[in-house]
Amino acid sequence: MITIKQIEELMKISSEKYPISSFYLGIAPVFLIQKKYRVLAKDLIKEGTSDLSRFSEEQREFTEKDVKKILNFINYEFDEKSRGLAIFSSIGIKLWQVYQFPRRIKGRFVIDTDPYTRPLVRFFDENEKFFVSFVDNRKARFFSSYTGIVNEREEISEEIHGRHKKGGWSQARFQRHIKNQTLKHLNNVSDVLYEIYKREKFDHLILGGSQKARANFKNIMHSSLQKITVGEIEGGLDDPILDLKESIQKIIDSFENKQSKKYLKTLFDKLGQKHLAVNGLEQTVAMLNQARIHTLIVKENFTNPGYKCIGCETPYTKEIKKCSLCNKKIIKVPDVIDEIIEKTWELNGEVKFIKKSKELDDLGGIAALLRW
Ligand SMILES: [Zn+2]
Repeated sequence: MITIKQIEELMKISSEKYPISSFYLGIAPVFLIQKKYRVLAKDLIKEGTSDLSRFSEEQREFTEKDVKKILNFINYEFDEKSRGLAIFSSIGIKLWQVYQFPRRIKGRFVIDTDPYTRPLVRFFDENEKFFVSFVDNRKARFFSSYTGIVNEREEISEEIHGRHKKGGWSQARFQRHIKNQTLKHLNNVSDVLYEIYKREKFDHLILGGSQKARANFKNIMHSSLQKITVGEIEGGLDDPILDLKESIQKIIDSFENKQSKKYLKTLFDKLGQKHLAVNGLEQTVAMLNQARIHTLIVKENFTNPGYKCIGCETPYTKEIKKCSLCNKKIIKVPDVIDEIIEKTWELNGEVKFIKKSKELDDLGGIAALLRW
């Protein structure tokens, strides 16, 4: 997992002397067959290192070492359950960070004086961010799921513990005012939760704890947090972490399922009206190339070979001689869907990934709501 804080830390890193390699890999299921992603990784690195003339000989040597380290990781340590990978490496400044994601990221290899973080920032923006807060009268436990993986946030429970200690009340007075103590605890949790909300900007909140504790907590919770509460879990303060992760994942899945259905309903309504939506690869690409896509709706695991322009990176479904927009050469790409997603983002369109949908399959796995 990666946190916003880690991304911000990465953004602060800069090195004039030793170049920093940023490597991204997106793995469609088809690339897992015969470990094809290794070839893909090599190709990306080859593309990214084709012109190193701007670097000194020493810098080139360091880059070569970074490349070796990255390829070693992909060959021997990469977790094939992941669909996305980001590596930042610079042996010269002892930088080595690896992040694996449950969803694809567009592959690329960039060498620069700082880490190339834009795809990470976008990955964060595209994913719905869930935060989970379990409370009872004395304790609190927190989880977040910002990139598709549920993680416990023990550092926040510790922060709350610290605040209790700082409270100005004497222990004796505490004992006499159990009710106040509970209230103070819940207020502390509520304050901390609101601070995290402002800092980490999660989209949805899930509450856990006994029914009574949840009800009490909801009463004092900030109104903007009440508005984004999307589910509740009974109990859980002392449950094993694996059980909790499972119940959290269930709520997230059912929420995302509902969201997908909403998008598909909008899509079907608009497909019924001419010029508001299109479906299928060819029509979607045609609309993309006119910059008309407002929201791209695509099946998460959909891949398809195709073509793109080497100049403006416009995707094409069929081979043509020259790019119709910039006249440059057209090349084959193993997955044109990635190119379509990337181009949609570039043109400020939104991308909605749908996990499973027979209806979307029937529409060709890809569709788009149009701007005009
Ligand atoms: Zn072009």
